[in-house]
This record gives sequence, structure tokens and C-alpha cells, in this order.
Amino acid sequence: MNLEKLSTIKIHRFDFVPYRYPYLVPIKPYGLGGGEIESMSSYILRLSDLYSEPAYAFSYQLLSKYLPENLRPTRKPNDAGGVYACNGIGKWAHRFSQAITDGTEGKINGFNLTQIPIENLSDKVGRGLLRSNLAWCNECFKVDLSEKKTPYVRLYWLFQISDSCTFHKCKLSSFCFKCGQIQAVIKKIPRQWICDKCGADQTESTDPAVPTNRNENEWIARSLYKLIERVNGKGYVIQARSLQQALRQILKSHNLTPMEFAEKLNISVDPIKEICVNNMRPYFPYLADLCYRINIPIDQFIFDSDLLSSPELWHGFSKPRYVSTTHISDRDKQSLLNHLKKILLENPMPPVAVSHLARKLNIDYNVIRYHFPDEYSELKRRYLKWDAQRLKDNKHLRMMKLINGVTDLVRLGIFPSDKKLKDFGFLIASDLRREDILSMTRAFQEYYQFLNSDYKL
Ligand SMILES: [Zn+2]
Ligand SMILES: [Zn+2]
Repeated sequence: MNLEKLSTIKIHRFDFVPYRYPYLVPIKPYGLGGGEIESMSSYILRLSDLYSEPAYAFSYQLLSKYLPENLRPTRKPNDAGGVYACNGIGKWAHRFSQAITDGTEGKINGFNLTQIPIENLSDKVGRGLLRSNLAWCNECFKVDLSEKKTPYVRLYWLFQISDSCTFHKCKLSSFCFKCGQIQAVIKKIPRQWICDKCGADQTESTDPAVPTNRNENEWIARSLYKLIERVNGKGYVIQARSLQQALRQILKSHNLTPMEFAEKLNISVDPIKEICVNNMRPYFPYLADLCYRINIPIDQFIFDSDLLSSPELWHGFSKPRYVSTTHISDRDKQSLLNHLKKILLENPMPPVAVSHLARKLNIDYNVIRYHFPDEYSELKRRYLKWDAQRLKDNKHLRMMKLINGVTDLVRLGIFPSDKKLKDFGFLIASDLRREDILSMTRAFQEYYQFLNSDYKL
């Protein structure tokens, strides 16, 4: 057999070095100390852009390098693993905050880029706190560009109840203006102003900004902005008892019982009792709604205990109205449950992904998660199982393609180089860069080189 030998060289791959980041470049988060502070996800994306790394790969390196062993994630963060939650109050937020704080030797307090400083204002799981998708103000992005900044996502935009920009008094966008794709909080390409489906630059949109249609939305956005400004800029701390004290103070100064107070405001009394008596942490949208009704911004309600509000200024409504996206009516709940049960019974292949289902039904992902935890985890379990099998099959398929390719080339008397494998269409370039394929290809190549030299002797 005559093998045509092409020159191959051994490429030293630096990926095998366990830590690629000797240090973290402590670039400053935007808006430090103010209400316009950057969100954790936005900061992570800017850093990964700086390192020319995809966001997920960078996040994993960051957490592996800077967290103590017991806090390190056991698997890579991904879409399903909730990296969007790095802006919230849960374990991902804690991990990222700790890594940033330690990695910058305390120069940057990572916790300020998340909702952790205000966690005492929400129940422990953070219901109603964080959006699951990106929201942004295009006008603010344009201002960033004109100030030679990277367009960045403000933390106060990412609250579920936040839907307008405090400065431009317009509604936040969450869909690409060109293709309509809903935008993820962490994108594969670390540019937040670029659509991850069609690549449209959102700052090039000529659509006029949509003005906020309800005063309440504007009031809430302003209130969130002020709250964030106060905890970050002036370092106010929300203690576990702050809310209880504030509420008791209001009741006392107006000489009202919880029942009378709730009746005056037309809200349900139970949460008020829970806060006043048991010091329970509230459902955040409930608290925001309460503050709106008594017309005291959330930050003033918590920190300015001597503030007296006058009932003449209170906003009255006929019935409670939360701005939460997880709130659904009993009827919708029943029909949703039936729908979920039907899917579980039919057990379609491939299994239904919860996020696709939510998009199809035009509801928030969290609606399914909070209201139907059993159905949610069963759907998720089926999907993940199927997905793992699919990945395994793909791996097997690639390996078969490689083996066929090498055999065919050698049969034709052609050295199975990477280039030939690619040119003859056996494997695509990205597959050739995969760890398993790469080492197998090298093994084949070395073996054929060895055979060939042996032949000549
Ligand atoms: Zn704006
Ligand atoms: Zn798009």
C-alpha cells in the first residue's frame, strides 16, 4: 500500500492546563454605587468577551478557580442549569458573587451585582423576584454607546415586576425587533445587544420607544431603582426585622389593626399578619403592591421609619392586583394542569421541554415551576434523560463517521489528515476539534505513519 504522507505537526493544546486564568482582570462594573448598577450576568458577559470565551465556558472556569472546593459546581452551568439565576438570591447568585469578590481580592463586591442585598424582602425561594429572560431599554443602550461604554444590562431591569426604564419612561424590550426571538439573560455570544438568533444589533432598531402606559409601572420601576441605589450606594442593610418594624410603625401611627389596614387598601390580610406577627418574609410583588397602595417607595418604607404617610395619598383599587407574571387565575390553573397531565400521559417522543411548552402556551416558565412542581420535575426528568441519550448517540455517530472516513481514505491511498477528513466531507471542522475525535484521529494518524515507515524498511 502506498500511503501519501502529508506533513503533520503535533499541536500543543493549552486547554489541558487546568487553570487558564492566572488572575481575574478586575474591570469595573458599570453604575457602581448607584441605581443603575450592572447586573451580574451583564458583568460576566463583558468579562467573557474580554477573554474571548463563550460565557458558559468562562463561567465554569471562573467558579472552578475562585470558589473553595465545597462551593464549586459539580456540573457546567448551562441554560437549563439556570445561570440566569446568577442575578437572583439563590445558590448560583451566591457562587458568582463569591467568585467575583474573592477573584478581585475584594476590590469588587460581587454581591452588589445581584438581588442578594435585598433578599430579606422576599421569601426564601425568591418567588416573583427575577425574570427568566432578558429585558432592556434600547435608549439606554444607545446612550451607553455614545458614552463609549459597552451597552450593559441594569440590575433593576431584571426584576419580574420591572417593566419600564426610569430615565426614558418607556417600556423595556425583551424581544428582538427584527426576528421576534425572546432574548436569554446569558447568551452564547457575549454581546447583549446582539440577537442570539438572527444577529440583529438591537441599537439599530428604528422602532420608536413605547411609552409606559400605566403610572403604576413607572412608579414601581422608579421605586426599584431607588431601593437598589440605597443598598448599593449608601450601604444600607436590610435586616431580617426591617420590614416587620416598618409595617408595625405604619399600623401604630395610623392606629389601625392589620384587618382595618388591609380593608382600607383592598388587599388580603394574611400576609400582613404573617409579617407583623411571625416576621415572615413576604412575596416580593405583594410588598411592592402594598408600597404602591400607600404611596411610599419601597426604600423609604424600609429605611425611613419616621416617615408618616397620609391616607389621602393612598392609591385605592377595587381588588388586589399584583404585577407578577407567576400569578394566574384558578380557571387557568385548572386548564393548565389538565394540559400538563395530558402531556405526561401521552409521553411524546422527543419529550416536551418545559421552556418550549411555556413559550407555546404564552406563559412564563416559572408559572409551571411554581404552581405544578411535581409535573414540572417529571417533565424535566424525562427531557434530561432523553437529552443525555441523544448526546451519547451523537458521540457514537461522530466516531463511526471518523472510522469510516479513515478507512476510506487509506483504501484510496490517501493519508487521513484532518484536512482530507474535512475536505471529503467525513467530518465537519468543529467536530474535528472535539476532544474525543481529536485524540482518536491523532492515534490513527500516528499508527498509519508508523505502518508506512515500517513498510519502507
Ligand atoms: Zn432607558
Ligand atoms: Zn433576532
